[in-house]
Amino acid sequence: MPTEKRFCDQCMIRTDHDVIEDPEAIYTYKRRRLYKCRECGHTSYKRGLRPSSESVY
Ligand SMILES: [Zn+2]
Repeated sequence: MPTEKRFCDQCMIRTDHDVIEDPEAIYTYKRRRLYKCRECGHTSYKRGLRPSSESVY
């Protein structure tokens, strides 16, 4: 299972997160990923990290 350093809303720091692809969203243009904090187990959906192609913020 891949891991990424992401900010955890609960730990309030960047921690290792397990990355769980949402299998039903793989073929949509908005790929959601479920991130699970390895420190506290908190899970949240975030958009995957992407290379430069996107500037929607
Ligand atoms: Zn956490």
